[in-house]
Amino acid sequence: MTSIEPRVITKSDPTRVSIEWSDGHSTVYTARELRQICPCAGCVDELTGKRTHDPTTVPGDMVTQNVALVGNYAITIRFSDGHETGIYPFRMLRENDPSG
Ligand SMILES: [Zn+2]
Repeated sequence: MTSIEPRVITKSDPTRVSIEWSDGHSTVYTARELRQICPCAGCVDELTGKRTHDPTTVPGDMVTQNVALVGNYAITIRFSDGHETGIYPFRMLRENDPSG
């Protein structure tokens, strides 16, 4: 099984994160979209998998303050609302690609 991995992660613009994948596909998330899909235990109930954080409460002017790699499988993001506990596995970022 081959895994698709990010080749380039561009985070120069605080309103978005762009990922260029090893298969040539590219994905662009806005900071708001990333905050809305935050998979951390504070946003998603670990037992039920149900989202407890209301995505509609994320303001449109959300930006990223820091984007960092977690090992070789994920990124973590600090958002302008101070939230920074989400770990976004590459696989999840690819599966949730807003452009399909
Ligand atoms: Zn979260």
